[in-house]
Amino acid sequence: MSLAIQIRQNGGPEEMQLVDIQVGDPGPGEVRISHRAIGLNFIDVYQRTGLYPSAMPLTLGMEASGVVEAVGEGVAHLRVGDRVAYASNPPGSYSTERVMPARCVCRLPDAISFETGAAMMLKGMTAQYLLKKTLPVEGLHRGDAVLFHAAAGGVGLIACQWARALGLELIATAGSDAKCQLALANGAAHAINYRTEDFAARVKEITGGKGVKVVYDSVGKDTWEKSLDCLRPFGLMASFGNASGPVPPFAPASLGARGGLYVTRQTLFVHMATREATQAMADDLFAVVESGQVKIHIDQRYPLREVQQAHRDLEARKTTGCTILTLD
Ligand code: NDP
Repeated sequence: MSLAIQIRQNGGPEEMQLVDIQVGDPGPGEVRISHRAIGLNFIDVYQRTGLYPSAMPLTLGMEASGVVEAVGEGVAHLRVGDRVAYASNPPGSYSTERVMPARCVCRLPDAISFETGAAMMLKGMTAQYLLKKTLPVEGLHRGDAVLFHAAAGGVGLIACQWARALGLELIATAGSDAKCQLALANGAAHAINYRTEDFAARVKEITGGKGVKVVYDSVGKDTWEKSLDCLRPFGLMASFGNASGPVPPFAPASLGARGGLYVTRQTLFVHMATREATQAMADDLFAVVESGQVKIHIDQRYPLREVQQAHRDLEARKTTGCTILTLD
């Protein structure tokens, strides 16, 4: 018998319950994976609360590592026994094993542990597309200043290190002085505690009044307005999350008044539209991790059955870096 964490309706952490599930054989284009570790992501909170609606009952979770147990018809890139890791849509990784689309699943290099693989796929490929694929036409160049909110979190600490490797001047924000220190220790050029300081004023000061080329904003409601004030003319607002709540409606004219700003809202799963695109992003991530330029910080571990506490801590902003759920 297999185990999974499911919700039957949207709500608080208490809605997540451990249940027995039957996992069948993979169909065409699918694989069955026996999990070794599971990644926790803020998107799991949105799906639990219903901010991102899903059909019920729902097994949460979009990231994990494990071993391939069975391969369906037409899957050429995986074999039984392969060590693998993935970011997946649809969800279902909060489980001991699952059947899922093979196109999301990548073989894990031998040098990368199951725990690291589980922690980094969704967050690391997100950092990859944000820094390398989001800005159109001109792109980012060494020395460019960017602002990255919640920089001591899972995606954030990976982005800090990767930005340093790319030669970017990353200005971090975080919700405590200790988190700011962590961002600085991981490659941020500057760090601002946005709970005690006016981050827009500080960004202007740091950039000599010019503003940054890109703001990467996963906080949403609380940071949206001031983030626009941090951009230089024709700068890009890259909104990619809503940890404080959804971004409110805004007037396009406000972008003109601030200097012809661009706004984009992208999601990882659009970038993962084909297996080839997913593999290319994963290979880039594996390379930067294997080179040591990006270290995956697993700062919290919870047994799968303690997932309610893991969600409480994530929502209470008590976590830093990556969090995994273990299967002991
Ligand atoms: P994090 O580890 O970054 O946790 C979220 C962080 O957001 C908190 O630690 C906290 O950091 C900050 N935060 C600010 N305001 C609030 C608030 N009101 N409540 C809770 N947290 C708040 O999570 P992840 O690394 O999993 O994800 C980071 C963000 O990226 C999320 O918003 C997620 O949805 C988004 N994301 C988007 C993707 C996409 O493709 N669009 C893909 C992957 C992630 P602090 O205390 O420093 O403010």
